[in-house]
Amino acid sequence: MKINGYQTVKSLEEAYNLLNENKQNAIVAGGAWMRLSSKVIETAIDLSGLELDQIVETKDAFEIGAMATLRQVEKQEGLKNLYNGVLSKALSKIMGVPIRNVATIGGSIIGKYSFSDVLTPLLVMNVELEFYKKGKISLEDFLVSKDRSKDVLVKVIIKKEEAKAYFHKMQKTGLDFAVVNVAISKKADTFKIAVGARPSLVKFALEAMAFVNDAKEVTEEVILETALIAGKELKFGTNSKASEEYRRNIAMAYIKRGLREVIK
Ligand SMILES: Cc1cc2nc3c(=O)[nH]c(=O)nc-3n(C[C@H](O)[C@H](O)[C@H](O)COP(=O)(O)OP(=O)(O)OC[C@H]3O[C@@H](n4cnc5c(N)ncnc54)[C@H](O)[C@@H]3O)c2cc1C
Repeated sequence: MKINGYQTVKSLEEAYNLLNENKQNAIVAGGAWMRLSSKVIETAIDLSGLELDQIVETKDAFEIGAMATLRQVEKQEGLKNLYNGVLSKALSKIMGVPIRNVATIGGSIIGKYSFSDVLTPLLVMNVELEFYKKGKISLEDFLVSKDRSKDVLVKVIIKKEEAKAYFHKMQKTGLDFAVVNVAISKKADTFKIAVGARPSLVKFALEAMAFVNDAKEVTEEVILETALIAGKELKFGTNSKASEEYRRNIAMAYIKRGLREVIK
C-alpha cells in the first residue's frame, strides 16, 4: 500500500466528502489488511478523532463503533454473555492479540472478506449496520448488496436476544485462516445456519434452515438431514487450503455438532 496523503477528519461529513472526492481516497481503520495490498491511496482518511471506538450497551442492543478493535469487542463483558458469547469466542480465534488490537470491526465488515471469522457469527445474530448517508441496513442485506457507492460505516448494532449460538472455525494451525467456518443460532424455535470460508463469502444455508425450522422436534434424524441439505445446497470450492469435498464434509460435521449444541 502506498499512501500519498493523510487526513484526520473532524466530522463524519468531512470523512464522507473526502471519501467521495476521489476514487483513490480511502478510510484507513486498523490498516492491518490494507497494508498488505499494493493499492495506491491518494488520501488516507483517519477516523480516529471521531470517537467511533466506543461500545455502548443500551436497553435493547450493543452499539459498537466502527473503529472499535476486534480485541475490544472480544473483551466486552456484556457481549461475552450475548448468544452465549459466540462472538467473543470467534474473535479469539483470529491471529494473535497484536493483530486483534489493531484490526477493527468496521474494517472487518466493509472488507466482506470471504475467510472472515467475524461475519459468520454476526450473520446468525440480529445485526444492523449504520452508515453515515445510507442509514441502517441489515448485515444480511449488506452482504448480498451489489451497491458499490462509498459511505462511512459508523456503527454495528447487535440486538439483544435470548438466543444460543455456536461457532466453529476449522483451521490447520492456530494462526491460520479458516478452511471453513460454521455458525448456528437458536432463538426460541428458530435456527439460523451460516457457513463461511467455503472458500467464498459466508452464506446462510436457507434450505437447511427451512427444514429444521419446520421440524416439530429436532431429533437426531432431523439434525442429520439438516446437515445433508446444507451440504447439498451450499457451493464449496477447492483452493490451496482444502478441496471442495473436504470443506463440504467438514461443514456438514460441524453443522451437526452445532445443532446438537444449541438444542441442549
Ligand atoms: C495477517 C492477518 C491475518 C488475518 N487473519 C484473519 C483470520 O484468520 N480471520 C479473520 O476473520 N480475519 C483475519 N484477518 C483480517 C482482520 O481480522 C480484519 O478483518 C482486517 O484487518 C480488516 O480490519 P482493519 O481494521 O485492519 O481494516 P482496514 O484494513 O483498515 O480496512 C479494510 C477496508 O475497510 C474499509 N473501511 C474500514 N473502516 C471503514 C469504515 N468505518 N467505513 C467505511 N469503510 C471502512 C477500508 O477503506 C478498507 O477498504 C487477518 C488480517 C491480517 C493482517
